Amino acid sequence: MIHFSCDACGQPIDREHETRYVVRLEVYAAVDEDTEPTDPEVDHLEAIEDMLERMEDSVSLDDELYQQLRYDLCPTCRERLLADPLARLKGAKLGFSNN
Ligand SMILES: [Zn+2]
Repeated sequence: MIHFSCDACGQPIDREHETRYVVRLEVYAAVDEDTEPTDPEVDHLEAIEDMLERMEDSVSLDDELYQQLRYDLCPTCRERLLADPLARLKGAKLGFSNN
């Protein structure tokens, strides 16, 4: 049996008694629709998929244009994440310290 631990707090996740939650974080360069020619025929989702496919071919730019991260979370950390997913970023911007 595979044992999982929470990527946030490090606690083992007892899958018999609690749910393991998976967080997938996808960060990619935005396609600004305003700068593209207005064409009702254009499927923007398809355009993004095409762009991502092209990116997969260009290894050197991958990290800046597209990143996908994956974490396992225990129920407690799932609650904490969903309460404020960008808490860390907001704190950094304001120069908060945890000390
Ligand atoms: Zn946790």
